[in-house]
Amino acid sequence: MAKKLVSDYGLAHFSTGDIIREKLANDPEFKAEFDALIKAGKLLDDERTKQLLLEKMQATDISKGFILDGYPRTVNQAHDLEEILKELGLKLNAAIYFSLPEQVAVDRLTRRLQCSKCGKIYNLASVKPKVSGICDDCGGKLITRADDEAETIRTRFREYEEKTRPVVDYYKGLGLLYEIDVDDTVEENYKKLKSLVETLKKE
Ligand SMILES: [Zn+2]
Repeated sequence: MAKKLVSDYGLAHFSTGDIIREKLANDPEFKAEFDALIKAGKLLDDERTKQLLLEKMQATDISKGFILDGYPRTVNQAHDLEEILKELGLKLNAAIYFSLPEQVAVDRLTRRLQCSKCGKIYNLASVKPKVSGICDDCGGKLITRADDEAETIRTRFREYEEKTRPVVDYYKGLGLLYEIDVDDTVEENYKKLKSLVETLKKE
């Protein structure tokens, strides 16, 4: 969805996962720091994530607008984002919440595949690769992500309710929350998203 919006509107796209992957590939010092964290069973903390995102946003042309994909995931990160935007002299227009019943999500995610080379996501129910098991874009091998097992997904739903639900409430409180039911096909879901974006553009 983010990628489609980006190509339709010329927006910049920021995903903290992508930023970290890029940094790992290009910055040996960061990689050493990151590997040590993972070895210790930790994750990159919010402060470091915030710095990385700010750096990336400062280095990117965001004159046509931008999407933050998968961030913020906690209220603490939402506060970090406010600081980032303040630093950049920007304001958030909208927080879009894709809502999906748990069972639908489990069904969908357990049929998901990811390219081992470029990271593109496929889904055997909706976004099938042209050749089974092979990435359309780069020819890489498609693998099931370890975190796509049903039980893991249910655990993530519980974590979500605990950590991310407050973020939804936070943006609702600021009057910035827009909800889209994504229980339809990819095309139909995107139509809903696009019509929302069109409305937001007019505001
Ligand atoms: Zn690929």
